[in-house]
Amino acid sequence: MRLDRFLAETTELTRSLAKKALQRGEVSVNGQVVKQGSLQLDADDRVVWGDQPLALVGLRYVMLHKPEDVECSSRRGLYPRAVDYIELPKAERLQTVGRLDVDTTGLVLLTDDGQWQHRVTSPRRRCAKVYLATLAEPLEGQALDEAVRRFEEGILLDGEEKPTLPAELVMRTPFKAELTLYEGRYHQVKRMFAAIGNHVVALHRESVGPLTLDTLEPGEWRELTEGEIDAFR
Ligand code: URA
Repeated sequence: MRLDRFLAETTELTRSLAKKALQRGEVSVNGQVVKQGSLQLDADDRVVWGDQPLALVGLRYVMLHKPEDVECSSRRGLYPRAVDYIELPKAERLQTVGRLDVDTTGLVLLTDDGQWQHRVTSPRRRCAKVYLATLAEPLEGQALDEAVRRFEEGILLDGEEKPTLPAELVMRTPFKAELTLYEGRYHQVKRMFAAIGNHVVALHRESVGPLTLDTLEPGEWRELTEGEIDAFR
């Protein structure tokens, strides 16, 4: 990789500011000041800017317990973004793997590995996502049997051409539904309960594939382990 590109990748400098830092003699490679941004670096070259040794940031994989009123968007808007919670260098480069609504809490994955992101979200993979929905109306008895059957068969949501994939509904209490989905459509959980005449008043995602939030409190995050990353490979 060229030295000027390496500087832009590993610091907050833009490519043109990196060139200026080079011209000012602030950058050394293996102990020698280098001013040419075009220098091609070898893998074991030691680059220092001022007194700061630089290293390329590898791909990152993170889970966040998303609090309410947080957006899964890369653009700045009305609410803080999921990525704003992640205290890692170049966190701006992380993208959420799928999205939760601003009022939904729970497990969000973030990564800068586009291929991994695609694998987790690919409909062909049928990755299970478990949601806990608090309902406005109790769901029990015959109405529950009917809901379980309709969710299992698939529901044609308003404005869509294909029914939802089979989903599993289990009630933890008459007001608390555990719903397992194998796809991720826009507002899917809320729309599925609306389709059976109910209303979701609170929504929380407990897991994505084998990953659960374990002990993370709202707003807390951690990097995934190698085993967790590999679980989606
Ligand atoms: N389904 C929804 O309705 N909202 C979410 O945030 C996720 C799934």
